[in-house]
Amino acid sequence: MDWYESASEKHKKKEREKARVLRKSQWWKAQLASGVCYYCAQIFSPEELTMDHKIPVARGGRSNKGNVVPCCKQCNTEKRHKTPAELALEELKKS
Ligand SMILES: [Zn+2]
Repeated sequence: MDWYESASEKHKKKEREKARVLRKSQWWKAQLASGVCYYCAQIFSPEELTMDHKIPVARGGRSNKGNVVPCCKQCNTEKRHKTPAELALEELKKS
């Protein structure tokens, strides 16, 4: 079994439910209203932003304010299931 598949089904179910609740919160609406993608720092309209887990739920991440960020669709597609450490590593390889 791959280590990144170690998050249990119970964890994923619980955190996805929490994300659903968080998505309706005033806090999240304020994040979307600010319109800034966490990754590329460009400004988008709220409907262009999605909720992204910095540490993916599938890798044990949680649905809380410290781990959930607004993310544009392009960054979301590029990021997929990578962790912040892996993204940083890719940036290093590029330069
Ligand atoms: Zn972006």
